[in-house]
Amino acid sequence: MSDTCIFCKIARGEIPCRKVYEDDELLAFHDINPVAPVHFMMVPKFHLPSLMEAEEAHAALLGRMLLLAPKLAKELGLENGFRTVINTGKGGGQEVFHLHIHIIGGGNIPPMVKRS
Ligand code: 5GP
Ligand code: ZN
Repeated sequence: MSDTCIFCKIARGEIPCRKVYEDDELLAFHDINPVAPVHFMMVPKFHLPSLMEAEEAHAALLGRMLLLAPKLAKELGLENGFRTVINTGKGGGQEVFHLHIHIIGGGNIPPMVKRS
């Protein structure tokens, strides 16, 4: 756990969130600034800054996160599909340094990378 990390604070219940799912290891909650009609994220409850710091010991948890994503997405009405985004490090545009998977869908989802 980190004293200053905003997602640790959300995981500890110190900052409110619109919860989608919670178990012993994981928390999912709606993004405060959504980019699509449905935009939530899934985080481990313990502090792991990014995929860069993930190790073999985290393999099962990361697998659980990927398997849970479609279940939660369907519960929120994204039967047709959704986008998952994991920004990693400053080079990947990450702003909150606590590993999270964005799950985004509904409306018009543009191509991920614009080609000119
Ligand atoms: P990143 O750029 O690190 O992948 O994404 C960080 C995300 O966290 C952004 O989409 C931002 O809107 C979201 N976010 C930042 N602070 C909060 C907060 O306090 N509550 C919630 N629910 N989302 C937040
Ligand atoms: Zn954290």
